[in-house]
Amino acid sequence: MRRGWCPTVFAPMPSGDGLLVRVKPPLGRLLAVQARALAAAAARDGNGVLELTGRANLQIRGLTAASAERFARAMVGAGLASPDPAAERRRTVAVAPLADAASLDVAASLEDALTQDDALAALPAKFGFAVALSGIAADVRLYPSGEFWAVWPDGAGIAAATRAPVRAALGLAHAFLAVAPGAARMHDADADALFAAAGLRPALPAPLPLRPRIIGQLPGGFGVGLPFGAVDAATLDRLAACGTLHVTPWRAFLVAAATAVPPDPALILDPADPRRALTACPGRPACAAAAADVRADALALARRFPGRALHLSGCAKGCADPRPAPLTLVAGADGYALVRNGTAADPPVARGLSLGQIAAMIAA
Ligand code: SF4
Repeated sequence: MRRGWCPTVFAPMPSGDGLLVRVKPPLGRLLAVQARALAAAAARDGNGVLELTGRANLQIRGLTAASAERFARAMVGAGLASPDPAAERRRTVAVAPLADAASLDVAASLEDALTQDDALAALPAKFGFAVALSGIAADVRLYPSGEFWAVWPDGAGIAAATRAPVRAALGLAHAFLAVAPGAARMHDADADALFAAAGLRPALPAPLPLRPRIIGQLPGGFGVGLPFGAVDAATLDRLAACGTLHVTPWRAFLVAAATAVPPDPALILDPADPRRALTACPGRPACAAAAADVRADALALARRFPGRALHLSGCAKGCADPRPAPLTLVAGADGYALVRNGTAADPPVARGLSLGQIAAMIAA
């Protein structure tokens, strides 16, 4: 994954296995007809696998220059992308999968305002907004708080209380451009200067991140996890028959208003499923840079150590998770390198390990 590049359907990103595109379902919702259109286009134009990202987007790999153009047209036709590439780039609003009507209204208004505000074209590619949603990467956060909204720049720890959350959020985005020109992310800017430039007064402690329960029966539907955060096109097509899919940033869909989903080995329907503890990039054969079929190896280790948190990476890039993990295994020509409490790019404590040797080390 290239740093600073945030692909869209109009701006594919070169990766080890062809071009990668990212689809941003409006308000994080996929109607059945949209999910089917997306599945069909992913199978026809890409490698047929869809990955959920940490910002509740879907990414598809393995496209060519020609198939990426066809894919973009299909997404616009399905209502999953703006026809204007510049507006599509600025549509970076993530909303909680179980958001109420008021939060959805705010998210929709914010998305509209962003696509119309050409001055915000200067925002960095990864700059994003989170509505009623915590625990994901975002630069401006909006959270309902009684009759007000708490709105704050990421990293501030303190929020403005406002009845005009969209105006406040846009104000912070403009303030970022004014007070931190050249900065990559909101948390790099001075929070006091941001509030002052946006004409906001910080008044509330910023709400703390929450990680909701997401697999199984939930108040608003049924949560379905995806092993390694990925689903193949045929499975997505089947899942579309169960109802509208709400995309989450937690490697899961919420099937709205459903009380059950038919058993399917390609899906995680039980919160105790050991695959939830695994993180792995697509690996071989999907990615040309991969030195091993890391997902198959992760499943083999999970059978011996169910529930053990493991990150397996096909190379030191660590696309699946840039954060440090207790145990990261990085595939190389001579076997796996083992990193403790680090990322795939950190120095390993051992190299050239077979799966059997790794199992013995974990068991010890
Ligand atoms: S981390 Fe995995 S997906 Fe990313 S480049 Fe390396 S092998 Fe490919």
